[in-house]
Amino acid sequence: MLFRPADDSHEPARTPYRVRGGDPLGLPSLKEELQTDIAIVGGGITGCSAALHAVEAGAKVVLVEGQSIGWGASSRNAGHLPAATKHEPEEVVRLYGETFGPRIIDASENGPRTIEAIAERYGIECELMFPGIITAAHTAEALDGLKHRVDYWQKRGRPLELLDRPTLASMLGSSFYLGGAIDRRGGSINPLAYVRGLARAALKKGAYLYENTRAQSLYRDGDEWVVRTADGVIRADKVFLCTNAYTDNLWPGLRRTVIPVRTIQFTTKPLSDNLLKTILPGRQPMIDTRRVLISVRIHRDGRLHFGCGPSMWAGSAPTWQSARARLQEIFPQLADVEFDDYWPGWMAFNKADSWQMHALAPGVFAALGCNGRGVALATIYGRDLARHAMGTPATELTLPMTPLDPVGMHAFSGMGAAAIAQWWRMRDAIEMRRLKAKV
Ligand SMILES: Cc1cc2nc3c(=O)[nH]c(=O)nc-3n(C[C@H](O)[C@H](O)[C@H](O)COP(=O)(O)OP(=O)(O)OC[C@H]3O[C@@H](n4cnc5c(N)ncnc54)[C@H](O)[C@@H]3O)c2cc1C
Repeated sequence: MLFRPADDSHEPARTPYRVRGGDPLGLPSLKEELQTDIAIVGGGITGCSAALHAVEAGAKVVLVEGQSIGWGASSRNAGHLPAATKHEPEEVVRLYGETFGPRIIDASENGPRTIEAIAERYGIECELMFPGIITAAHTAEALDGLKHRVDYWQKRGRPLELLDRPTLASMLGSSFYLGGAIDRRGGSINPLAYVRGLARAALKKGAYLYENTRAQSLYRDGDEWVVRTADGVIRADKVFLCTNAYTDNLWPGLRRTVIPVRTIQFTTKPLSDNLLKTILPGRQPMIDTRRVLISVRIHRDGRLHFGCGPSMWAGSAPTWQSARARLQEIFPQLADVEFDDYWPGWMAFNKADSWQMHALAPGVFAALGCNGRGVALATIYGRDLARHAMGTPATELTLPMTPLDPVGMHAFSGMGAAAIAQWWRMRDAIEMRRLKAKV
């Protein structure tokens, strides 16, 4: 049996972000009929950014979130803020063409600073730091890829550097990898504090936000769209669907465009002062180049945060023992580190392997398909939804509006994703054995 997003507890995730995440919003559920310009479904970063930018531009906005603000991936992610998409720039241009490709590259590059500007404008305290992001190479081919990336950006005057093995070892506190790169444009964030801050800013500007309010149906009635919830109704000119991996059957076919993939994040108890001096002493978040990559960051209170890939089969959640074994491969000094907590979060994979924006019908739009590296892009694509609703032509947005592209045999896609993850793990393991033999 596979897990599904609908199986998750309705409680907010037990992440380290809660300590400095600000108070929960404690919003009411919708219990009346409202008339509005824009109805938004989903209260993650995409939905809250769309709400904020639409009210800023003068629209009347009503947002409904089925659980609590930020309950989905927006509060469960690793909080790394890269200045790039997962694809290399040449690949982005190949995939999106000469018009949209460069816009996506620019938007990604400016993503962390866009968040910083919004946080400053609205006084959102979200632990933003820009010490750079480290990528560590697990094979010689992966290191060549990093060399190519660094070279591309250095030619354009950007602050990326290649790290030789000893330099990387001192920055990581691990001599495990062959070398790596640092991109000094990136950093980290407390995403829970950020999404709550976006929601508070939207409320302050006059948006209406509701929690524990699931949109149950969406249909056309005369010249308006109707969103029905258990106890309420929203009549709107326009509707944005910002539901990413948690997309349900609200709009026919939309769910079949995404394969939700469940991934697990762990935290340790605060590390000792000695460990904190050696492991990521510059506090850069790091990822590696494996197919099922790992991600590591250290929180302000000394907790180590470790993301270790998909876990889809019910009853087979990765145990702390197996997570610790993976951590210790890289950081043998963590032999005695104590487990603190773990939580699942869902990413949305799709055929394009990246964000998609759709015009589903006149006035109904969706932005979804994020499978990582989405905190900044969710902000930007939410803003684009708002801009489009307020008159910016689709041709001037960051992403093209594309038709729905359903995944074939969608009912079995979760099993397919679990099998692919297993296959990737095996290939990673073979490569890691070769790396260990060289170390
Ligand atoms: C484990 C993990 C690690 C990640 N790490 C990073 C990272 O380090 N850096 C990075 O940049 N990105 C990362 N990401 C990606 C990033 O978190 C997402 O791109 C981003 O949060 C997507 O935001 P969203 O608002 O589109 O979706 P979500 O935050 O998932 O929000 C969707 C919301 O829609 C609601 N919803 C669904 N259906 C309905 C309905 N019918 N009615 C009402 N509400 C509904 C859900 O309850 C949910 O709250 C990670 C993601 C995961 C899962």
